Amino acid sequence: MGREMSSATLLRDGFGRQITYLRLSVTDRCNFRCVYCMPEKMRFLPRTQVLSAEELFQVGAAFVALGVNKIRLTGGEPLVNPDLPWLVENLAGLPGLDLLMLTTNGERLGIHAKPLKAAGLDRINISLDSLRPERFAELTRTGRLKRVLEGIGAAQQAGFERLKLNAVILRGRNDDEILELIRFARREVLDITFIEEMPLGYINEHDRKLSFVSSEQIRTTISNEFPLLPTLENTGGPARYHRMEDSSISVGFISAHSNNFCGSCNRVRVTAEGRLLLCLGNEHSIDLRQVLRESPNDPDTLKNKIRQAMSLKPERHRFDLNEAPQIVRFMNMTGG
Ligand code: SAM
Ligand code: SF4
Repeated sequence: MGREMSSATLLRDGFGRQITYLRLSVTDRCNFRCVYCMPEKMRFLPRTQVLSAEELFQVGAAFVALGVNKIRLTGGEPLVNPDLPWLVENLAGLPGLDLLMLTTNGERLGIHAKPLKAAGLDRINISLDSLRPERFAELTRTGRLKRVLEGIGAAQQAGFERLKLNAVILRGRNDDEILELIRFARREVLDITFIEEMPLGYINEHDRKLSFVSSEQIRTTISNEFPLLPTLENTGGPARYHRMEDSSISVGFISAHSNNFCGSCNRVRVTAEGRLLLCLGNEHSIDLRQVLRESPNDPDTLKNKIRQAMSLKPERHRFDLNEAPQIVRFMNMTGG
């Protein structure tokens, strides 16, 4: 972080953890309906309940003023928000923000990759759970693989470095594609992270307990073919990274259940409705939308509210596949 800030300005929670990373959900809407993320007939929020681009910018600016140096834009699908290019351009110009990143399903990157690069976006993560067109359509319910592969190509062409794939692996659905995804990532020189399915929101398309594949199982499958070397790379989140001797890509595993990553947690989330979530696996939150609308253009009030909220950040999350979901929010509300 290239800034001098007094410790009174920085965001610290009650356990001494400094918050430097914000995941900002820019919409709850999506052009896909991934089976693990939302029900087929998803009801989205009325537009008035969702933060406007101007409000999203104010939230981002307040966090950066409080020492956050990394923002990831997520959703829902960020690229369905027509104001995304404006938001990227304005956030990218904030002094003190070192990394502005995007998580997307990739479908619209064919059109947007180049302008987003020009607007100042630094990095992109693209979700890709299958390389087989029919299966891809089944898992996303509405997605077309060809468009996503074109989107990945467009991001490469636009000059984005360290593009990363995210893959959620489900037993009996795509767990036979782990090595194919690894080969694709190696060939295209893309980092890849495998994510364990998390019990966020109630779905009845499948039983999350039966579909669960642990990071450990995925790691074993890969290691049998491509030996993995653990690294000390750490982004303060749940991901653990590995390297291979004969490739420059990194292979990550996100295991919300089996790993204790909470001690080094440096992040908070803001939902599309402007709820500041202190932890993905707990309901503790405060309403920033109310502050934004009751005290418009008042950065000090917004920053004070954010500072006060830090005392609500719990020490650790509680995810349990054996219980009914305690977290009723779907992932598209939370921002993955
Ligand atoms: N629409 C964008 C995308 O799919 O990349 C961004 C939002 S999406 C909610 C962010 C990430 O969350 C994706 O990589 C997706 O695979 C993952 N995800 C969604 N629901 C999940 C769940 N229940 N468990 C684990 N990962 C999930
Ligand atoms: Fe949409 Fe992303 Fe959820 Fe899939 S994972 S339904 S692309 S928000």
